[in-house]
Amino acid sequence: MQYRTILVTGGCGFIGSHFIKYIFKKYPKIKIINLDLLTYAANQNNLEIINKSARYKFIKGDIGDFSLANRIIKSNLVDCVVNFAAESDNNRAINFPVDFVKTNVLGTTILLEAARKNKIKRFHHISTCEVFGQLSLKTKEEFSEDSPFKPRTPYNASKAAADHIIKSYYYTFGLPVTISHCCNNYGSHQFPEKVIPVFILKALKNEPLPIFKSSKNKREWIHVLDHCHALDLILQKGKLGEQYNIGTGLEKNVEEIANEILDILGKPKGLRKIIPDRPGHDTRYLLSSAKIKKELGWKPEIKWTDGLRDTIKWYKNNQTWWQSQ
Ligand code: NAD
Repeated sequence: MQYRTILVTGGCGFIGSHFIKYIFKKYPKIKIINLDLLTYAANQNNLEIINKSARYKFIKGDIGDFSLANRIIKSNLVDCVVNFAAESDNNRAINFPVDFVKTNVLGTTILLEAARKNKIKRFHHISTCEVFGQLSLKTKEEFSEDSPFKPRTPYNASKAAADHIIKSYYYTFGLPVTISHCCNNYGSHQFPEKVIPVFILKALKNEPLPIFKSSKNKREWIHVLDHCHALDLILQKGKLGEQYNIGTGLEKNVEEIANEILDILGKPKGLRKIIPDRPGHDTRYLLSSAKIKKELGWKPEIKWTDGLRDTIKWYKNNQTWWQSQ
């Protein structure tokens, strides 16, 4: 890896904390600064094992604070920024849409400004498959990197807006940017508002698993460590100004996920409970990941059945983590 110091934003969240641990372990010479506002979704214990290392520094703060971001980049000789920081939950976006625009759009723009002022070598932004809108359940279509943006929720729209601004910094200022669009992640340390940890924890407590009425709606799933590996390759070899889809092709509907979790935990199917759909509930997203496979040689390694079992085991064995959330 060609970078000296990476500024990771949102590194106390689910994917960001896995990414920090992945880079820390794989690249013993790289320094990592983690800038995180510590919102409800953050947990500093996610990084307990590296907290005391001289190669890792945590700073509490907002990506939307220009003077802080500028000072961090300048004084630590940061040459790469990886932006995970975001409001990331579609359900919360219904109640607090302004927060999503503030962090995901304005915050990202301010961070871009700090990066531009300091002539960094790479600004990588973590976007989402959801910017492309929804697919019908039956179509054979997949989203490519060139598919038009058709977001339908405040979360999706804020992520799409940020992507446009990031591309504008490439074309207008020559900032060395890359963007990735990943499908739904699962794994340990995911805040229990997202579907897989919600189902696991409800099942462990013998409480009803809430299933949206449109229970055949599908999502494409990736283990968080396969996502980290893809980001590693993009940072090393990704072409500047380009975006990369990161998906596995593995689709599951919410009913299948509930059934598999109940089966693994030996709990009855009667624990499933249908609830009304949330407004703007997208039916399906599916990415074509041909570009990252062909250009960067990435492929997912972790099988869904193994990854799901490991994830369930982690939540079972780490009750103090989720009870503190
Ligand atoms: P998360 O909610 O677990 O973590 C987000 C982190 O960002 C938290 O630690 C939070 O404190 C921090 N944060 C929020 N606002 C901030 C601000 N203004 N300044 C600094 N830090 C701030 O999210 P996640 O699931 O780890 O997602 C990380 C990124 O990946 C997001 O950008 C999300 O859009 C994207 N993404 C997530 C998924 C998924 O399945 N979880 C899929 C595709 C893309």
